[in-house]
Amino acid sequence: MNIILLGYPGSGKGTQAKVLSQKLGLFHVSTGDIFREELAKKSPLGQEVSGYISAGRLVPDRLVLEVLKARLAVETRGLLFDGFPRTVEQAEGLDSWFESRSQAIDSVIFLDVPEAEVAARLGSRRTCTGCGKIYNTISNAPAKENVCDVCGKPLMTREDDKPEVIARRIQVYKDQTEPLLAYYRSSGVFHKVDASRAPEAVAEGLSAMLAGKP
Ligand code: AMP
Repeated sequence: MNIILLGYPGSGKGTQAKVLSQKLGLFHVSTGDIFREELAKKSPLGQEVSGYISAGRLVPDRLVLEVLKARLAVETRGLLFDGFPRTVEQAEGLDSWFESRSQAIDSVIFLDVPEAEVAARLGSRRTCTGCGKIYNTISNAPAKENVCDVCGKPLMTREDDKPEVIARRIQVYKDQTEPLLAYYRSSGVFHKVDASRAPEAVAEGLSAMLAGKP
């Protein structure tokens, strides 16, 4: 099974992808996480993408597709994409890559959250520096301020969750990623889930939807 999660930055794709990939035995593919790992390693790829990420702009399609194909070449599990595709060009690239491997997209799920809410969520998002668990200081705070409940490591604010970058990321989403909704709506595998609810309720909704329940 191959699934794509679509939605604004801050719509909960990362949180839901972690839960869903474990539950369904899928390989969680987050292009954002891949780029952040490369940034942390200060690899040539990390250095190449650093300027785009800190400015809240998209990494060029050619590079994204190249990195992804290299990473997924030998993966045999089903894939759960989080943060990819982000442009129609990337979606077309994915379609032809899947076609060459005789694979298909089984579900495209749009996590629907109003724009005003994602801006607030991004501003209060914190990420664990150890295990990557995502918190929100308003709706999903850790038991001890700035400390991860799971691994005890400190939490941080992502560079691109700083206020000046958030507005740009939202605009980039509207200009470059939102057209994907029309692209996939006609595919017959498009679904929309109300993702303005608590993460647990969204996860339940996703599971029910994938199990074919209304
Ligand atoms: P994310 O964690 O998915 O919000 O991604 C963080 C940043 O990485 C984005 O703001 C982009 O700069 C870059 N990025 C991640 N995925 C993609 C993608 N599919 N296409 C282009 N840039 C991406």
